Amino acid sequence: MITYQVGDNVTTRKPHACGCSTWTIMRTGADYKLQCTKCGHVVMLTSEKFHKAVKQIATK
Ligand SMILES: [Zn+2]
Repeated sequence: MITYQVGDNVTTRKPHACGCSTWTIMRTGADYKLQCTKCGHVVMLTSEKFHKAVKQIATK
């Protein structure tokens, strides 16, 4: 099981509307807050949705 931490960059299975699929984790816990690294858009996901959406930790 991978542990995610604030500041990690992750890759999602589906890219954001702007075409970028790399996000920075801004908050972890019951809810996850992710910021798109390209356009800066912020989304909140439940832990369950986060783990379904994320493919891997991206290399910085
Ligand atoms: Zn974006």
